[in-house]
Amino acid sequence: MSFNTLGLHSLLLDALTETGYDTPTDIQAEAIPHILNGGDVMAGAQTGTGKTAAFTLPILHKLLLSEDDGSSNESSIKRVKALILTPTRELAQQVHKSVNTYANKTTLKTALVYGGVSIKNQIDDLQQGVDIVIATPGRLLDHLYNQNISLEHVEYVVFDEADRMLDMGFKDEISRITKKLPSIRQTLLFSATFDESIFKLSKRLLNDAVLVEV
Ligand code: AMP
Repeated sequence: MSFNTLGLHSLLLDALTETGYDTPTDIQAEAIPHILNGGDVMAGAQTGTGKTAAFTLPILHKLLLSEDDGSSNESSIKRVKALILTPTRELAQQVHKSVNTYANKTTLKTALVYGGVSIKNQIDDLQQGVDIVIATPGRLLDHLYNQNISLEHVEYVVFDEADRMLDMGFKDEISRITKKLPSIRQTLLFSATFDESIFKLSKRLLNDAVLVEV
């Protein structure tokens, strides 16, 4: 199988060729078609399996399609359409870097939001208008309460390493963030492990999800 077979947008295929990836990993081959179909997905994948591209590529593809068909208004300021939540700032930085690599042939804009650093630059980034926000929960809530960001137009949400988010005690933060999200959205939950608490969380966050495990 190739990335071409998955039907991804040509700008993403160009970026993948440049990056030197020609074959999807197992999690990518399994998850990408379901995500492109529009359904919620719960995926079991460890770090190192290529999980970041598994959720990023189909989201970028969908954002590019809505740009191509003119349903996103080019003249107005960009609104946040995709939110990727990670438990740690290191993971947020890593995911941000990957998203920018896969999106480097596009005009899609990203912002990185995490705690422990000055909030000012993040506010400036958000005010420029972005399509995709990669965030850790606490700092995202700060921005929400200060009205630096609106999640009203979010269509795609990813909970990356959801098991670690629960281990780190982010259950309440996740609930508070979810309340600010539109109820009609596509939600993807990635986790290295599955236990009762993850299934409980996924019941609250996902709708009719397909389970993908590699
Ligand atoms: P991840 O599991 O998302 O942290 O990715 C692990 C590593 O695999 C990262 O360095 C990616 O850049 C790389 N990677 C992701 N997808 C592919 C692919 N299809 N072919 C080769 N390397 C990949």
